[in-house]
Amino acid sequence: MDFKNSEKLYKKGLKHLVGAVNSPVRAFASVGGNPLFIKKAKGTVITDVDGNDYIDYVLSYGPMILGHRHKKVEKAIKKALKNGYTFGASTKNEIKLAKIVCDAFPGMDKVRFVNSGTEAVLSALRLARAYTGNDKIIKFAGCYHGHSDALLVAAGSGLVTLSLPGSKGVPEGAVKNTLIANYNDLESVKAHFEKHDDIAGVIIEPIAGNMGVVLPQGNFLKELKAYLETKNALLIVDEVMTGFRSKFGGAQELLGVEADITCLGKVIGGGFPVGAYGARNEIMEMVSPLGAMYQAGTLSGNPIAMAAGIATLTELKKQNPYQKFDEIAARLEQMLREKANKHGVDIVVNRYGSMINPFFKRGVVTNFEEAQESDTKKFAVFFWELVKNGIFLPPSQFEAWFLSSALSEKDLEQTENAIDKAMEAVAKQ
Ligand code: PMP
Repeated sequence: MDFKNSEKLYKKGLKHLVGAVNSPVRAFASVGGNPLFIKKAKGTVITDVDGNDYIDYVLSYGPMILGHRHKKVEKAIKKALKNGYTFGASTKNEIKLAKIVCDAFPGMDKVRFVNSGTEAVLSALRLARAYTGNDKIIKFAGCYHGHSDALLVAAGSGLVTLSLPGSKGVPEGAVKNTLIANYNDLESVKAHFEKHDDIAGVIIEPIAGNMGVVLPQGNFLKELKAYLETKNALLIVDEVMTGFRSKFGGAQELLGVEADITCLGKVIGGGFPVGAYGARNEIMEMVSPLGAMYQAGTLSGNPIAMAAGIATLTELKKQNPYQKFDEIAARLEQMLREKANKHGVDIVVNRYGSMINPFFKRGVVTNFEEAQESDTKKFAVFFWELVKNGIFLPPSQFEAWFLSSALSEKDLEQTENAIDKAMEAVAKQ
């Protein structure tokens, strides 16, 4: 296997693209080597510009839950294309997708579509502030909620991959209302409420995926919600990653908790740029044109994206792959543990629903601090050995691997062989 064409494109890309990428994690910065350039994908297989095939556990960081180019999604996109690309006016399919989304999340009477997860979250914060009249927001260390100014502190995903505490260019004023708590630590939330009486709400990844997979322990989310109710503060659940992935009704269905405001993205666009935020009527009626909280978008509710989203969610509901996801994730966990054991490598495997990843360390990972104790050098060796054996996974210790419903027995066998070789390589390192 060689990567000559990827290397050539990488060098060429450096001239007019920043780091030859349009999103930092794609630069492979923490695993070394040049990033792969992708030519195409179909089903569970993604193919790079050198013609190398990989089983895809990146799935564009989550959206491609049915696998790539599912025939029903593709048919819906082609049909939508014939009617035009964008109109700056409402279409029937926006209402259809809104109904599917609101039906799946009991706490959502109304939804507003935007173009990315980042937009969904920044709008949700504005809404929480508009509704409560308070300015402060609590976020958890290691959770990533997109790249809006207020949330680029103690963030996971690309920031932890690149070891950045925050971002240059974010004015102090933009983060002065952001308070940081520890994941799975309700006391750290309470401590902020004891000091401040102007907290609008708490934003959380209900199953964290941006510091690697970190699970809420016990009844953490339910207890958090119950506590916030006593403080008249809102629970903003960022389901950009988990929405329609953990369960059809997201992590909220899986964990039995109801958000005040829910943020969505990834899966709901079926591979196109869509985000959404939604809540009960009383909250959503704050949003313009019904209320005085302004938020807008030229391409919001884009017809092609709506068609892809409807087709994806309709097929997903029909397939109902959530038990299959759990079984596959359990098998992957077993493979990772067995092969690590065989070669004497220390790992922790965290998984929930269709998100899983191994951390190269002993003990447990229940928060950001424990996640950061992982040996990223070992991860880099593991990553490249998997790539060389035909497995594409996120090029970072701190990103979840995603499953698609298209995964076959053959894919899993290939994955198992590759994991065996990769653990052997880690042991020899
Ligand atoms: N929230 C969460 C939980 C995410 O995982 C992400 C992206 N990985 C975002 C928000 C931001 O979404 P986007 O990249 O579409 O802006």
